[in-house]
Amino acid sequence: MPLAPELLETALAQGRLSHAYLLIGASAVQSTRVFLRRLYCPSGSCGHCPTCRKLDRDSHPDVRWLRKGNKRIGIEQIRRLQRDALYPPSESARKIYLIEEAEALSLEAANSLLKLLEAPPPYLTFLLLTARPRLLPTIISRCQIIKLPHLSRAELTRQLAQRGFSSEELGWLMAFLQDRPERLERFSPGQPLPGELLEQVQQAQSELAELDGPALVQKLSPDEVPPRQREAALALLSRLPGLATHELLEIALALSKLLPEALGYWLEELLAWQRDLLLLSYGRTELIWNCDRLPELERALGEGRRSAAELPKLIAELELSRTDFESNANRQLWVEALLFKLCSPSR
Ligand SMILES: [Zn+2]
Repeated sequence: MPLAPELLETALAQGRLSHAYLLIGASAVQSTRVFLRRLYCPSGSCGHCPTCRKLDRDSHPDVRWLRKGNKRIGIEQIRRLQRDALYPPSESARKIYLIEEAEALSLEAANSLLKLLEAPPPYLTFLLLTARPRLLPTIISRCQIIKLPHLSRAELTRQLAQRGFSSEELGWLMAFLQDRPERLERFSPGQPLPGELLEQVQQAQSELAELDGPALVQKLSPDEVPPRQREAALALLSRLPGLATHELLEIALALSKLLPEALGYWLEELLAWQRDLLLLSYGRTELIWNCDRLPELERALGEGRRSAAELPKLIAELELSRTDFESNANRQLWVEALLFKLCSPSR
C-alpha cells in the first residue's frame, strides 16, 4: 500500500490532522493523491471502490481543488472557499481544501486566505502544494511544513502499477513522465485509465501518420491529450533527418509560432532523446527514459548520424540554445538554426 508523507501518516494514525500543511516538492500533487486515498478510502487505498474513483476523478464532495485560473489564484477563488468552508463535510468527517501551485496566490488572495487559516472550522484541513516555496511568511508560519523527497522512478512505477496499469502501459507512462511526476497532472481528472491508455496511444499514432510536418507541430499544443502530444513530439523527431530544406523551414516556422509551453515541451523531448541515444551508446539501457522506443533508438544509433563522442557536445549545445530560447531573440531564426544543427551530418 503506498504511503503518504510520514508526517501525514502519523497524523492519520493518531486521527489528529492539523488545520494546514505546506507540501514542498515536485511530487507534491502525487503525494497528495496518495494521502487523499489513505484518508478517505474505507480499505485504506484500494484504488477501485467508489470513494477511490471519486478521488481519482476529482469529484469527491469533501475535497476541493483550487488551481490558478489564468496566471494567479485570485481573491474571488478564496472568497468562494470561505463561503464553502461554512458547510461541514457531507460524506466523511473531514473536508480537505487543496491549493495547487500555491506560489501563484495573488497578494490579496493570500491575505484573504490567511484569515481562514487563522481560525478554520474544526472539520477543515488545508494542503498547500508548491514546487517552490515562494509564499508569504505569514502563510508559511501557519502551516506544518512537509519537504518531499524526490520521488524515485521505482517508487512512481510501483504507485502506478498499484493503480492497475499493465507493464506495457507503465512503459509508455514512465517514458512520458521521465523524471517529472508532475507531468501526470497534464491528464484530465480521472485520466489516464488503466486498460484505455494504449488504445489512445495507438489511435494518436495512426492519426498523426496522416499529417504533414506543420500540422504535426500543432499537436504539440498543451490543449492536446498527453498521448497525442508525446506521439507528435516523437514523430516529429523521427521525421526530421529525412526532410528536404524547404520542409525543415516550414516546420521551423510552425514551431516558432507555438506557445512557449508547447515549444518548451518539444525541446524537453528532443533533449531526452539525445540523452537516451548517449546512454544507449554506453549500454546503459536501464537509465533510458524512452524505454518504450528502444528499437527506434537502436536504429537511430545504428544509422550513425552522430558518433557517441559527438553526442555530449550536441546535448550541451542544445541545453545552451534552450537558454537562448527562454531569453529569446528572434524565435524563428533560432528554431531554424536548431533544426539545421540537428539535421547536419556528423562532423
Ligand atoms: Zn478505495
